[in-house]
Amino acid sequence: MQDRFERKISYLRLSVTDLCNLRCRYCMPEEGIPKRPHDEILTFEELTEIVGAAVELGVTKVRITGGEPLVRRGITDLCADLRAIPGLKELAVTTNGVLLPELAKPLKEAGVDRVNISLDTLDPVKYRELTRCGELQQVLDGIEAAREAGLAPIKLNAVLMGGFNDDEIEDLVELTRTRDLQMRFIELMPVGPGASFAPEAFIPCAEVLARVPELVPEGHAGVSRQYRLPGGAGTVGLITPISHEFCSECNRIRVTSDGKLKPCLHSAEEIPLRGLHGEALREAIRRGVLHKPASHDILQPGVRTAGERTMNAIGG
Ligand code: SAM
Ligand code: SF4
Repeated sequence: MQDRFERKISYLRLSVTDLCNLRCRYCMPEEGIPKRPHDEILTFEELTEIVGAAVELGVTKVRITGGEPLVRRGITDLCADLRAIPGLKELAVTTNGVLLPELAKPLKEAGVDRVNISLDTLDPVKYRELTRCGELQQVLDGIEAAREAGLAPIKLNAVLMGGFNDDEIEDLVELTRTRDLQMRFIELMPVGPGASFAPEAFIPCAEVLARVPELVPEGHAGVSRQYRLPGGAGTVGLITPISHEFCSECNRIRVTSDGKLKPCLHSAEEIPLRGLHGEALREAIRRGVLHKPASHDILQPGVRTAGERTMNAIGG
């Protein structure tokens, strides 16, 4: 599938729940979000049908996200159903890692290729403060479990927040010196509760290069600009939705857990897919791809992401 700007769309981010077992301050309100009636959330059959249609149209990579995807009951069964779709080349999961000690092996057995794990700080006290209820050790155990299960190479995602974890940049980069990890820094986005962070929290990923000047550029991997410490076993990625135009590299579409296709993370437009089958479903997906905007406008000062959904509801 190609969009109007000659971008080849091959990557689908599939949100399977809005719910989460953490309450990260930039993503979720403290009280959580109201639980939707069960029947508003796509069933496994519907999710599989949508992914099947997208794969027929040229999607080759699917990432399962949320909310926290591992809290959805039966998640490994869904992964196995998706893995069985002919033509799907890569199945990945983005998770906070808390449930990976139990689920890494079953996910691998269900056919998941790799996981992205969110890790914004290496300090247990800060981790608890940021997530409001999380235990850092569970995530560290989750990373180990993912490695043991062969869900590699593991990507670690850190949202960069001035005054919170910018003093840990060197330590997070250091993780890649001896380990085959992909450490990725992501600029904080003014989405949902992220929009009410103080201006000083919004720092560009260029700060990583300022603090670790020995990083050597290695080109692009999707929307991530890749670097490596000299002789480092792993890589460092910079994802810069705010400070740099990265939309021209965007190859993705998103489907929310209630069955809406979002052509762009930052636009309000949503195309309902629920209840559509066969050619009508494929046609709606094609329409979504053609509606992908050239770029988003959260680069402008003071501009917030359009639409009502917060990150837990879009899937990040
Ligand atoms: N619960 C899983 C997790 O935390 O990895 C998957 C869903 S989460 C919404 C996906 C990604 O979005 C995470 O890496 C998270 O850090 C990121 N995210 C959430 N809110 C954000 C914000 N306001 N700015 C930047 N990234 C954000
Ligand atoms: Fe949950 Fe992920 Fe949002 Fe944190 S970022 S509250 S783990 S969905």
